[in-house]
Amino acid sequence: MFRPFKKDFTWQDVDLLAYKQEGGAPFKDVTRQVLFSGDDLKSELRYFEIAPGGHTTLERHEHVHAAMILRGVGHCLVGNEVRAVHTHDLITVPLLTWHQLRAGADEPMGFLCMVDAIRDKPQLPSKDDLEALLADPIVAVFLQGENK
Ligand code: MN
Repeated sequence: MFRPFKKDFTWQDVDLLAYKQEGGAPFKDVTRQVLFSGDDLKSELRYFEIAPGGHTTLERHEHVHAAMILRGVGHCLVGNEVRAVHTHDLITVPLLTWHQLRAGADEPMGFLCMVDAIRDKPQLPSKDDLEALLADPIVAVFLQGENK
């Protein structure tokens, strides 16, 4: 029932996991910890941490994300909008909306992310989807990891 904070954004009795299986969806240097999950909860709360210069998968799905940056700074893409994000900022990702988070170059960026416990699998962009996203120069700079 009670799991103390250890250090460096880890908690007692919470496994430090790979973000996703290697060789599947593209991402770079992300870890995952499931903080709250269980039969009596209809949501899960996870903590993800992106190493400097790393990023989550560019994806969309039919479930929504409610996220809070817990440490560090970076940039996020939600739909066609690129934003600089900072510790304690809140991010809502609506359903079927392309999204990705990228950590800044100097420190890890960690964020809490709430999702439905029962949810659909993420979809990856097709070549056409990617082309449409890259047509926006601001989005292109973001996706190429060039935001500083
Ligand atoms: Mn997602």
